Amino acid sequence: MSLLGVVYTVEQSDLGTTCGYCSSSGQRSAQASSFHDAELVTSYLKCEGYQAMIDRGWRRCGTLCYRPDMKRTCCPQYTIKLDALEFRASASQRKLLNRWNRFVLHGDASGDALGHKKGAKPKHAKKGAPEHSLIESIHAPEKHVLGEEHSAHEFEVTLEPSSYTLEKYQLFEAYQASIHKDSSYPSSFKRFLVETPLVTNPIPYGPTPPEHLPKAYGSYHQLYRLDGKLIAMSVLDILPSCVSSVYFVYDPAFDKHSLGKMSALREVSLAKEIHDAGVDDHRYLYLGYYVHTCPKMLYKGEYSPSYLLDPEEYTWHPLPECKKGLDKARYACFAHPEHSSQTPAPQRATIPEVPLSVLQSLHIIVDEDGESRIESFSNLQWSDEAEVKKSLSTLAYSLGFDLAKRMAYVINE
Ligand SMILES: [Zn+2]
Repeated sequence: MSLLGVVYTVEQSDLGTTCGYCSSSGQRSAQASSFHDAELVTSYLKCEGYQAMIDRGWRRCGTLCYRPDMKRTCCPQYTIKLDALEFRASASQRKLLNRWNRFVLHGDASGDALGHKKGAKPKHAKKGAPEHSLIESIHAPEKHVLGEEHSAHEFEVTLEPSSYTLEKYQLFEAYQASIHKDSSYPSSFKRFLVETPLVTNPIPYGPTPPEHLPKAYGSYHQLYRLDGKLIAMSVLDILPSCVSSVYFVYDPAFDKHSLGKMSALREVSLAKEIHDAGVDDHRYLYLGYYVHTCPKMLYKGEYSPSYLLDPEEYTWHPLPECKKGLDKARYACFAHPEHSSQTPAPQRATIPEVPLSVLQSLHIIVDEDGESRIESFSNLQWSDEAEVKKSLSTLAYSLGFDLAKRMAYVINE
C-alpha cells in the first residue's frame, strides 16, 4: 500500500471567520460566522487521495485543505457534482454559447459594443441540435478548429499545468479590483491559485486520445485568449473521477458574456471528453460548494443533473430533493432528515478519541539527525500526548479511517 499524502497538521482555531455568503464585509457575529471542522496543510498529495477527500466534503485553497463545520456554520457549504454523461444544456445555456460563437466568428454579439460587424446566420450555431453536439459547439470557435476559415476574432483555449506568469497575475488583479473591490498581491495570487499539493500521474486513456486533452491528473490553468490577449482563466484540478473547478477569473470588460457560466459548459465537456477517451471512471464536474442561501451560488444549481454530498453519510443526493430539505432547514442532512436543524450549533462537536488500533496504524514522520523515517504513533514519546491525539483524532474522523491510514503526518510539538 502506498502513501497518498503528507500532512502537516495545523492548529485548529475555534474562531470563525466572517461568512462571505450572508454578512457584509468586516462584520463578524456568532450568527454570521463560518467555521471549519478540520484543516490541514499538505505539500504532497496524490490525486487519488484528494479525490477521496473531496468526496468527504474537503476542498483545497492552494496547499491548505479544509472542511466546513456544517452544523455550526451559518451558511453550510455542500459539495456539488454534475454528471457530465447525463448533462443536457438548457436553452439559456445554449443561447449563451451560441452568442459567444457568433461573436467570435462574426463579431456579432447582439448589439454588443465589442462586436465588429453584423454577421449572417452563423453556421456553427445549431438550433435544436442533438446533445452530442455540445462538445462540438464548445470547440467550434477555436482557432485550431477553424484553421484557415476567416473569423472576426481569434479565440484560443489552452490547458497548462498551474504556474505563475505576470499576464495571469494582471488578469487576477483586474478581476479582484473590479468584481470583488479588493486589492491583490502576486504572493496571494500564488498562494491561492498557483500553489498546489497535487502530484501528477498519467491519465490511463485508451489508444489515441485527442491531442487537446491533458496527459496527467493534476492542477491546471485553462487559459482563454481572444486576439492573443488573456481574457479568462479557469483553475482546475483534474482528478480520477472528475474535473474539479477551483476558481475562475475573467477580464471585467467581458462581463456581459457570462464567461463564468460558459466555463462550466466547457469544463463539463472536458470531463465527458476524458471519459469518452477511455477513462470509464471519469464522469463528473465538481463545481465546488453549493450554498443554498447565497444568490450568487444559485447558478450552480442550473446545471442538471447535479447531486449534493450528504454531510453525515457522504452519499450523493439529487439536487431537487436536497433543495426541498434546504428550504426547510439551515442545516439539512439528506440521509437522516431528522438530524436537520435550523439554528447553528453553539460550539464544535466533541471528537471521540480514535480507537487505539487506528491510532497505531497512522504513519508519523520523524526527523532525526537530518533523516526522515516513518514510525507508529505508539512507538514515540510525546511531550503532550493528549494534544497530539486530539489533533490526529480530528483528522482521522474528517478524512475517514481508511484514508487517514494512507497519509503520513508531520507533527511539530
Ligand atoms: Zn452565512
